[in-house]
Amino acid sequence: MTSPSPAAEGSPPVIAPLTPHRVLVLNSGSSSLKYQLLDMRDSSRLASGLVERIGERGSRLVHSPLAGGAAEPRERTEPMADHTAALKAVAEELAADGLGLDSPQLAAIGHRVVHGGKHFTEPTVIDDAVIAEIERLIPVAPLHNPANLTGIRTARELRPDLPQVAVFDTAFHTTMPEAAARYAIDAATADAHRIRRYGFHGTSHAYVSRRTAALLGKDPSEVNVIVLHLGNGASASAVRGGVCVETSMGLTPLEGLVMGTRSGDVDPAVVFHLKRVAGMDIDEVDALLNKRSGLVGLCGDNDMREIRRRIDEGDEAARLAFDVYVHRLKKYIGAYYAVLGRVDAVVFTAGVGENAAPVREAAVAGLEELGLVVDAELNAVRSGEPRLISPARARVAVAVVPTDEELEIATQAYALVRG
Ligand code: AMP
Repeated sequence: MTSPSPAAEGSPPVIAPLTPHRVLVLNSGSSSLKYQLLDMRDSSRLASGLVERIGERGSRLVHSPLAGGAAEPRERTEPMADHTAALKAVAEELAADGLGLDSPQLAAIGHRVVHGGKHFTEPTVIDDAVIAEIERLIPVAPLHNPANLTGIRTARELRPDLPQVAVFDTAFHTTMPEAAARYAIDAATADAHRIRRYGFHGTSHAYVSRRTAALLGKDPSEVNVIVLHLGNGASASAVRGGVCVETSMGLTPLEGLVMGTRSGDVDPAVVFHLKRVAGMDIDEVDALLNKRSGLVGLCGDNDMREIRRRIDEGDEAARLAFDVYVHRLKKYIGAYYAVLGRVDAVVFTAGVGENAAPVREAAVAGLEELGLVVDAELNAVRSGEPRLISPARARVAVAVVPTDEELEIATQAYALVRG
């Protein structure tokens, strides 16, 4: 699109080129590719979609055009051997909506990169050196970083002229003091293998803590917030004056809260014990703690809706799973309250945090002495908007703020390329 400028009489109208204002956000998994195209003039979504089963049988692309009112999603099932084929198919769908990736209106491609280590504290324009550093971090993110790199390489092939920006899940947490980031293990071993707390879900914690300050009518520098990101993966963070000072995920996303399929905190000796008494090898224990633990390990389901339905039917395993989940959450609220000293808001986000009122109610129950109270009526309201669920004069605000990691990635990438 271009905007006409006033033309002198008799001469052809001068068409001023519009500043590039679109950002494509890519989130590449090992066999998947999620994307959103955003218009940064108003942060609106132009399109979104997902390619699944890349390089497997039954590759499938679901594309949702979102510009100018929602249209029906379009689906393509065809062999997509790799991420290059997948991104080409995405580009074709976008082009069919008049949003082709060759458009001069595209300002940047923003890539979610899971692990940026200590090195990447900010969103970063990708060049060969950045790729090499993300590669160097593969040992601490063996599943995620290779997939993220595949997305980056594919996008660079498609638009080599365009700024590609890496936005790191770990970056928001790089402000943690050493006392919080260090594990109490042999320092030389830790340093040699870069073992420390990195934290993840950083774009969500950054976005949600900022939005919470706005909800309170304050600048982020004025408020202390405990953010509870409760999705299938889950993490908590303590944010003091807009700066992260503690978070629950560690070297990997396994530590901390009880999650859909991950255990969160366990005694590390569980690993040696399983090796010694059950003969399990490291990969089996890895799979146990990452894929067969958490809610699914406790009761067979990782969807909080299903767990609530089973509890209503009197299912005891589901009840126990819920109780373990909430107990851990409450422990972290208390711990982060102590870390921060003064708390202005506790905020719930992501799939469970935004939708499961019983989780919010139970996590805060009994914390009145800390100034934490949930209003039952406000908590029951279903809404996609940021909202308070604590009573009007509560000492500490309890809030629900829907997360938007794609918008945060696009915002950070756009701010970087626009200078
Ligand atoms: P996320 O990873 O943020 O997409 O969150 C996914 C999880 O959110 C699911 O596994 C469910 O446990 C939970 N969830 C989604 N919708 C609801 C809902 N309406 N009520 C309770 N839990 C929900």
